[in-house]
Amino acid sequence: MHTGFFTHAQCAAHEMGSWHPESPERLAAVHDHLIAVGLLPHLLGYDAPQASLEVIARAHDTEYIERLRARIPKQGYAPVDPDTSMNSASWDAALHAAGAVIDATDRVIRGELANAFCAVRPPGHHACRAAAMGFCFFNNVAVGALHAVHAHGLSRVAVIDFDVHHGNGTEDILAGNRHALMASFFQHPFYPYSGTDYAADNMVNVPVPAGTRGDVVRELVDSQWMPRLEAFAPQMIFISAGFDAHREDDLGQMGLVEADYAWITQRLMDVADRHAGGRIVSTLEGGYNLSALGRSVAAHVRTLAQL
Ligand SMILES: [Zn+2]
Repeated sequence: MHTGFFTHAQCAAHEMGSWHPESPERLAAVHDHLIAVGLLPHLLGYDAPQASLEVIARAHDTEYIERLRARIPKQGYAPVDPDTSMNSASWDAALHAAGAVIDATDRVIRGELANAFCAVRPPGHHACRAAAMGFCFFNNVAVGALHAVHAHGLSRVAVIDFDVHHGNGTEDILAGNRHALMASFFQHPFYPYSGTDYAADNMVNVPVPAGTRGDVVRELVDSQWMPRLEAFAPQMIFISAGFDAHREDDLGQMGLVEADYAWITQRLMDVADRHAGGRIVSTLEGGYNLSALGRSVAAHVRTLAQL
């Protein structure tokens, strides 16, 4: 069985200004590097469909979805938060990004794929139930996790977030949901300044200081995440795969390298193999140094595909 690779051309048409670090070039860097290292031919590629608004409404208020749709500009940019704006392609891009996770989830659960990586943007983990935030519009991973529960009848899904920033939007949507367990580490104190004040019982939040390197992160994964994941025994694992904790990424100040991402991925695959029939759907979040992003995604995907 293969690893699926989901993306869509529209995800590169969304842009927020040439200065913005969350740029279309990020997807080109991922694609080019996967070709350069010979990985892409080993993956099964899919054009991501658009998610339906009904599916997105499992994670977001209908009123918010409609408010966002009403903001789509015919030209130029429409700001939705201090760091986030829409162009004429953003709405469609956001639907394809969420749709990638939905399609990947369906195919992995049906047994067509071993696991999947969604190379999509806009990212999603800062998108709250009723607010766009931090480059995110729809919470792609939360939409996928809730789809696995409500459309496929899974009763235990785990969401892992290894982006340098706390996935406040995913926490907003999944906190207290008895079908979900979320585990993350994140640089703290740091944007979005959440994740430590209050955590629901199903949140395993591990704040770490700036400068934290891979050896410490690996110990925390084993001591903080693993016991909770083993006890929860997830039937499927979703990954918010942000690569901005890489030591070359200027948007964070952590010290991970490609080998750390491969190690974390393998740990999650071991959990998935023990409890979830190997089912993992991973989705791109942050990662802004284009070279480090390409290399880190390759390490992650190479592990997923066991190549
Ligand atoms: Zn991030």
